[in-house]
Amino acid sequence: MAARRQRTVITGGAGFIGSHLCDYFVEAGHEVICLDNLLTGSGSHIEHLLGREDFRFIDYDVTGYIHVGGPVDNVLHFASPASPVDYLEYPIETLKVGALGTHKALGLARDKGARFLLASTSEAYGDPQIHPQPETYWGNVNPVGPRGVYDEAKRFAEALTMAYHRTHGMDTHIARIFNTYGPRMRLYDGRALPTFFRQALKGEDLTVYGDGSQTRSFCYVGDMIEGIGRLLKSDEHEPVNLGNPDELTILELAREIIELTGAKSKIVFEPLPTDDPKVRQPDIAKAKRVLGWEPTTPRSEGLKRALDYFREQVAQGAQNG
Ligand code: NAD
Ligand code: UDP
Repeated sequence: MAARRQRTVITGGAGFIGSHLCDYFVEAGHEVICLDNLLTGSGSHIEHLLGREDFRFIDYDVTGYIHVGGPVDNVLHFASPASPVDYLEYPIETLKVGALGTHKALGLARDKGARFLLASTSEAYGDPQIHPQPETYWGNVNPVGPRGVYDEAKRFAEALTMAYHRTHGMDTHIARIFNTYGPRMRLYDGRALPTFFRQALKGEDLTVYGDGSQTRSFCYVGDMIEGIGRLLKSDEHEPVNLGNPDELTILELAREIIELTGAKSKIVFEPLPTDDPKVRQPDIAKAKRVLGWEPTTPRSEGLKRALDYFREQVAQGAQNG
């Protein structure tokens, strides 16, 4: 008898990373069920999959009880606003999807005996005092600051996932995802990289917050998806950092994007948001060791691919795409 096709549930599957995961698992031969309430995602990211017999989109808020008929082999919980601008606009929704949504997604996985993978974040480390950040660092998070709604929701989600693993023996995985970029980021999501591309492509000034000396390390989405796929199948249950250690300052990023686009734009400086982390760089020794994974797309190449996408978006006059 032929083996049954794997069935994979992806919450937040109409978002930036989630929609790439939908593509990845459909291509791997799975049947994919995408649950998303389109709070910060877009139907356009998964439009190309609609109508396939191995893909289903359900417009659903995963903070409520999740019912999926039939067997489920994998649950990937990616639903959550992720851009600081988004989670500051939706603070309660962010806390709810990190807490209640994770509870419901774990409950579904437990009921079905499925593998579970949580999209956690480098924000679990807050404004880090150890650099680069290994998984053993417990972080420096302000729980009651504006960013606390995201950071603490994800820290709670990690704690809940470990509790389900330890209590119920579930096959769970936690990805601490660092800044990721690529096609399908929204032009207006407020994150530095799409904002700088949009501003440069429209000939506007680039808004660097603070003096731009804060650092980030950007990972191309294709590399991230591969890391997530490997983590899901691994035997590792403790958190694993996924990201590209290629660190640069935000001012350097702005300058690179001006050069790459050939824009005449200037750089203007605006106030640094509250609790904005001063440095961020993943220590990926563990991912290399347990997953045999490391990013392979250099920044120069990833930025070129992102440029092609953002140029198209600007040309189409996308407001939200
Ligand atoms: P995104 O905003 O593009 O995607 C999130 C998706 O979740 C959206 O489609 C949104 O509509 C959906 N969603 C939100 N609340 C929901 C709810 N209650 N029910 C159903 N769907 C809901 O963001 P992204 O960048 O693709 O991030 C995806 C995941 O990865 C998030 O969990 C985020 O915390 C995590 N992450 C992303 C990054 C990054 O750099 N992109 C870094 C660290 C962690
Ligand atoms: N940032 C900036 N200009 C912008 C948007 C963001 O200088 O228009 C800065 C932001 O203050 C932070 C960094 O760029 O220091 C990365 O911000 P992003 O929103 O991409 O994500 P974060 O890594 O802070 O979650």
